[in-house]
Amino acid sequence: MTLLAAVDVGGTTVKAAVYEPGRWAKRAELRRPTVRPTARGEDPAVAVAEQVGAMVQELAEGLAGELATDGPVAAAGVVVPGVVDEAAGIARFAANLGWRDAPLRELLAERLPMPVAFGHDVTAGGLAEHRFGAARGFADAAFVPVGTGIAAALLLGGRPHRAAGHAGELGHVDVGHGHRCGCGATGCLEAVASAGSIARHYTERSGRAVTGAREVLDADDDVAREIVEEAVTALAAGLRLLVTLVAPEVVVLGGGLFEAGGLLERVDRRLAESLIFQRRPVLRRAELGDEAGCLGAGLLAAELLEPAVAP
Ligand SMILES: [Zn+2]
Repeated sequence: MTLLAAVDVGGTTVKAAVYEPGRWAKRAELRRPTVRPTARGEDPAVAVAEQVGAMVQELAEGLAGELATDGPVAAAGVVVPGVVDEAAGIARFAANLGWRDAPLRELLAERLPMPVAFGHDVTAGGLAEHRFGAARGFADAAFVPVGTGIAAALLLGGRPHRAAGHAGELGHVDVGHGHRCGCGATGCLEAVASAGSIARHYTERSGRAVTGAREVLDADDDVAREIVEEAVTALAAGLRLLVTLVAPEVVVLGGGLFEAGGLLERVDRRLAESLIFQRRPVLRRAELGDEAGCLGAGLLAAELLEPAVAP
């Protein structure tokens, strides 16, 4: 049995799982995914590489025990956030992880005893949604997870469009409001429509602390309604730009905000009203949730081994 290890490194947690290519539908049931707080260290890239190496080794040892096989983990896929140059194997920048131009693929290869595929978390999530989830069957698709920030994975003709990690920064297009973004610019989409900014703006304006953006969506007061309205307007404007330039057939919206009913439908209506000649895309909720990044990392690992164990 050939097995693949998949690791999704985030700003707060690292998730690792093992997949069996060809039986993706089983997902990570072979070995329940493990989640750990992201390691910090003087050199953040080295700390994360050490942690990933240890987690993959633990998974492999656990499997040997559980399956009574020394089933080798044939390849590993590791995905990270931020600006990632996949071709060069370099993590250019990630605000939450504190690295700059880190040679992560090399650091990982030194610590993992199998071939390593290295990639970008949102792109990997998009690959997974395209292969197994809400974008299945569409050639041109955009995957837009809305969380702490907002980014887009673009799949054009079924292939990810990467531009050395610089493409897809949908969170930083100017949608014409006066709020300052973490990037330093004013008017960015994610400055009013990310889960983080929705919660922060609510607390600033109402003086009431909330546990997250979902609470603002559910709240029944004027401040909450105003903030959600701003987010809907901004998301529709950001998607209008995406649709005008790239014209995806489907836009898959991810993140907890869209899991509840209502928001996706409002954005869809507002977007449709704003289109003139542009093709209206299908808007869908992401189907893979938190596992999209790991599944995508598994797909990257499988690609390394192709055609031997193509899924
Ligand atoms: Zn910005």
